[in-house]
Amino acid sequence: MAERVPNWLKQRVLLTPDRPALFFEGTAWTFAQLYEKALSWAAELKREGLKTGERVGLLVQNTPDAVCVIHAVQQLGIEAVLLNHRLTTGELMWQLTDAELAAVVYDPVYEETVEKLEGTFVRKSLSSPLPAEQAAGREEFWLEDTCSIMYTSGTTGKPKGVRQTYGNHWWSATGSVFNLGLQENDCWLCAVPIFHISGYSILMRSVLYGIPVRLYTHFDERVINESLQKGEGTIISVVSAMLSRLIESLEGRYHPNFRCMLLGGGPAPKPLLEACEEKKIPVFQTYGMTETASQIVTLPPEYSLTKLGSAGKPLFPCQLKIAAPPFSEGEILVKGPNVTPGYLNREEANQAAFTDGWFHTGDIGYVDEEGFLFVLDRRSDLIISGGENVYPAEVESVLLSHPSVREAGVAGVAHDKWGQVPAAFIVEREPVTEEELRQFCEERLAKYKCPAYFIKMDCLPRNASKKLLRRELKVPLD
Ligand code: ATP
Ligand code: MG
Repeated sequence: MAERVPNWLKQRVLLTPDRPALFFEGTAWTFAQLYEKALSWAAELKREGLKTGERVGLLVQNTPDAVCVIHAVQQLGIEAVLLNHRLTTGELMWQLTDAELAAVVYDPVYEETVEKLEGTFVRKSLSSPLPAEQAAGREEFWLEDTCSIMYTSGTTGKPKGVRQTYGNHWWSATGSVFNLGLQENDCWLCAVPIFHISGYSILMRSVLYGIPVRLYTHFDERVINESLQKGEGTIISVVSAMLSRLIESLEGRYHPNFRCMLLGGGPAPKPLLEACEEKKIPVFQTYGMTETASQIVTLPPEYSLTKLGSAGKPLFPCQLKIAAPPFSEGEILVKGPNVTPGYLNREEANQAAFTDGWFHTGDIGYVDEEGFLFVLDRRSDLIISGGENVYPAEVESVLLSHPSVREAGVAGVAHDKWGQVPAAFIVEREPVTEEELRQFCEERLAKYKCPAYFIKMDCLPRNASKKLLRRELKVPLD
């Protein structure tokens, strides 16, 4: 493996300077323009005294300026710590200290948050005027250097900073294109956050492949549907909550150019996949995580229904195995050049996470006779009821197949006799009685998997990338 690659944005500008790199709210940027702005930002960061090897926190939204800053820090060899703007001041302070940030670059909408942060780091608003001069971009990127750091939300203990190297991003983009292919008219829609690996990885692919990103500050199903119907994008990354909103508001079909609905981040409910099949939407289910710099396993649409619910097979050149006898359930282990070299400052966690180069994902699954991976759930969300394993994803999928259920979440609650029992949290599409839901589940699930409680909610707790936060589902005490 090459130890270094040419500075990829510089190389892209050398190859195709005038191709569009970014579309945002009716404006387009070419790769040359993106590079120019990134170099101006790099000059500004240098003027502030920031140096190669230091770390800068980015508290940003999906905007062109944020994209430029992401590239600017790469130009200087500064590590970007992508901060989640939903975090509290205390949580941000913890990450700031853990990563020893030399600066925080922020979107002006987060001014107030940044004012509350204590410390002597440089604070730089994205609305700051930029100098006329430009810094020189680095010639090469070392593949083993850390490029970005993203913190996990930390279900147990403190959040961990996942280090993603230039090599991780390079191989992630490579594995993805070996699988999805590349077309001259490709354009990737990005309505997922760029501070999350799902969005950040789209920006890296854009530069490496030479294709534009159509960027959205937030997800609006009507806007995205309109864009896909007009043929403005060929690929989009979504999580299932986004996809179901798209399907629900979709009238007619997408433009024939549209070729890939990349669905990841969590389990894909069967009714949703069936609805996509009916509307001829090519869904690529995928499994990946911050620690694998996005996708590591993907299922092409021809298997979408025959291998219903599978996340697919590993992307080149990754490997996967289950820590259990063949075809049985166990922890999913992965290996490949897109897997993180480890967490920042977490020696103990790193030792626990790797065995002989295999990364322990913390997810449970199995591989069938033909090599397809089925992800069952997170080990930490597993409900053990009377000694039986209940996977929340399976119960949620049944609930979601009820026409009156818009969203469903399942979590375990303590029970004197069984240890734990599943509880269902429902957002209704139309009114439905608890009795009807109970009966519906009993007809489709073993008794121990049927929710003991049905709790109606206005909305379910989700994180910034719209993923269900099961640990926040709590049965109200009455
Ligand atoms: P944290 O580690 O802080 O709890 P997170 O794991 O949700 O956060 P990500 O790295 O974005 O953050 O998500 C990766 C996780 O999402 C996987 O480990 C897995 O649990 C879940 N996931 C991703 N794809 C799938 C899939 N196809 N099917 C089921 N679960 C999936
Ligand atoms: Mg995780």
